[in-house]
Amino acid sequence: MSFELKSLLRPHIAKIQPYTSARDEYSGKEGIFLDANENPYGSITEQDFNRYPDPYQQQLKAEIAKIKQVKSDQIFLGNGSDEAIDLLFRAFCRPGIDNVILLPPTYGMYEVSAAINDVETRKVPLTSDFQLQTDRILDQVDSNTKIIFICSPNNPSGNKLLRTEIQRIIREFNGLVVVDEAYIDFNDEPSFTTEMAEFPNLLVMQTFSKAWGLASLRLGMAFASQELIRILNLIKPPYNISGLTQDTVLKAIQNIGKVNRMIAEILEERAFLAKELKELTFVQKVYPSQANFLLIKIPNANEVYNALINAKIIVRNRSKVILCEDCLRITVGTRFENEMLLTALNKVFAEIEN
Ligand SMILES: *Cc1c(COP(=O)(O)O)cnc(C)c1O
Repeated sequence: MSFELKSLLRPHIAKIQPYTSARDEYSGKEGIFLDANENPYGSITEQDFNRYPDPYQQQLKAEIAKIKQVKSDQIFLGNGSDEAIDLLFRAFCRPGIDNVILLPPTYGMYEVSAAINDVETRKVPLTSDFQLQTDRILDQVDSNTKIIFICSPNNPSGNKLLRTEIQRIIREFNGLVVVDEAYIDFNDEPSFTTEMAEFPNLLVMQTFSKAWGLASLRLGMAFASQELIRILNLIKPPYNISGLTQDTVLKAIQNIGKVNRMIAEILEERAFLAKELKELTFVQKVYPSQANFLLIKIPNANEVYNALINAKIIVRNRSKVILCEDCLRITVGTRFENEMLLTALNKVFAEIEN
């Protein structure tokens, strides 16, 4: 396969002259800054936010590069993973003409972003044990297919998809393959970032929202070839990552030991919760999970969901989603929260049976 990124790109994107911000034209730290119409007196808040942040987040990327073992210029940072997804549509998919392939049940944002960008989605469901139907996926590809979105470990099923099948898709599809690794920190396989050198058409997404506990900051990562990262940087809003986010995450990375301890604890709780749920006779299935949540199959899922809400325990009702009939998705909580959930489930079923 000879993969050429330029031939995938929407023609007008190739011609864009990027917006050059004040901080692009002069990036030194010393001097009297009268170039960006900022407030010279400081901010109204205790902490000063009056200066525009680094548009390319270079310090932060240097630290991320170290912990993820990639090069700085192979990293794109977005306002959540959702920003990278949207930029990919805008860069590569001609509205009303091109299409992407989705593999339901999966993360909902791919479809929303496709709809916003007026891009056709072709859906090839996973198998009943939530694995790829690789031949059927490749059969759906035509000359206007630009992106295949693969989520592994998958949301909402929780399992990882077979690596050899993902590799086959990347190898045989002459377009972009996005591997969404939002839950990579809870899984037992290496990231697909280790395969970027081999696959120029691969983009790997990760996020600070899950294992790092920084969902509110909105920081998503995309890893890919320098050429592809350059395109995302070209079309992103100039200051898409706030200074507060950059500084906070820079400090957080120095504290990676705490992240690893939290991950270990969540994995322990996942095992505890899975074991306890399996012992409940009314739970029909606890799907294997490589993420920080469990998908369970349970009779009368809607009723159970509502009863749990009444008990002030909020889980995600996935029972209307393809292949997830009567399924609830439960995020792994603390031991206290997990025990409250188990107690509530027992109570709900005792009531249903009477
Ligand atoms: C949670 C999640 C994300 C993270 O999105 P952010 O916008 O970075 O918070 C991405 N992909 C999947 C599959 C997720 O479940």
